[in-house]
Amino acid sequence: MTYVITEPCIDVKDGTCVDVCPVDCIAGEDTDRQLFIDPERCVDCDLCLTVCPVDAIYREEHLPAQYLPFVAINRDYFQRKEG
Ligand code: SF4
Ligand code: SF4
Repeated sequence: MTYVITEPCIDVKDGTCVDVCPVDCIAGEDTDRQLFIDPERCVDCDLCLTVCPVDAIYREEHLPAQYLPFVAINRDYFQRKEG
């Protein structure tokens, strides 16, 4: 299981979640419109979810249906980087 960043982060991207993540698994390029969580490294600690000002972060099993595509969007960012 993992945590997933979803649509409300787009163009907000304030980095609050990055500051609290104990394993530094949240990232994104300057050109990306949102940040992403690495599902391979997330330790499900819940910290990012509690601090996000726009409630963009969900536990994967609690994702609303309209945000299901963001599971792949988050995962693909890190697979792209590993290239
Ligand atoms: S705290 Fe929320 S809005 Fe800010 S970068 Fe993280 S997911 Fe995006
Ligand atoms: S749940 Fe914890 S480990 Fe996973 S991304 Fe959020 S702060 Fe990082």
